Amino acid sequence: MRLVLVGPPGAGKGTQAQFIASNLSIPKISTGDIFRANVSGGTELGKLAKTYMDRGDLVPDEVTIAMVRDRLSEEDAQDGFLLDGFPRNVPQAEILRDMLKDWEQKLDLVLELVVDDEEVVRRLAGRRTCSQCGRIWHVEFDDKRDDICDVCGGTLFQRDDDKEETVRHRLEVYQQQTSPLIRFYAEEDILVGVDATGPVEEVTQRAMKAIRPYAG
Ligand code: ADP
Ligand code: ADP
Repeated sequence: MRLVLVGPPGAGKGTQAQFIASNLSIPKISTGDIFRANVSGGTELGKLAKTYMDRGDLVPDEVTIAMVRDRLSEEDAQDGFLLDGFPRNVPQAEILRDMLKDWEQKLDLVLELVVDDEEVVRRLAGRRTCSQCGRIWHVEFDDKRDDICDVCGGTLFQRDDDKEETVRHRLEVYQQQTSPLIRFYAEEDILVGVDATGPVEEVTQRAMKAIRPYAG
């Protein structure tokens, strides 16, 4: 199964990606996570990406695409993958399509997580991430007042780009650059929308129900 998750920042892509990828036994490939790992590791890629991420802008396409090409070439991605956060504009989607075609592969499904702006802002304002295992939490919805991860005991942190100013800009970037993907994939006839409101487990169930018919 070759699957892409799209939706605005805060829609719950990362949260759902953890469960969907594990249900389908495919690797979860999150470009945001790969960039953040490079930033913490102090690599050249990380230094470059950080300047864009801090502003809430997209990292240039050539850098992002080269990184995704390398990741998709790895052994574990040959029989399927779940992409979270890529593609994020139409040029990336076109290159992904051509890249997969060269490898005699294609996307099976693009799942759009649908939530309104108000909910997105609430979700981003309370998002916390575990510095040790990467699991995503929410201060209010998961009642995480102690800043400790229930899964591994690691310390939770707030992402720099979840500060209010940057969030507003990221939402604009989504509207301008990423949302045209909805139409692009609808025209390719591989887009399915899922209501992403309500408890996490319910959203996962809705997503799995939408995915199953395509999972072969
Ligand atoms: P969110 O989960 O809030 O949607 P991500 O973790 O996916 O955010 O991405 C964080 C940042 O990483 C983005 O704001 C952008 O700077 C960079 N990034 C991630 N994926 C891409 C991509 N496909 N193209 C360009 N930049 C990206
Ligand atoms: P994205 O990857 O799309 O930016 P995340 O998965 O990081 O979104 O989720 C953003 C925030 O919203 C996190 O704090 C997460 O715990 C929370 N969240 C995700 N799904 C739900 C949900 N169904 N209900 C409430 N909060 C959610």
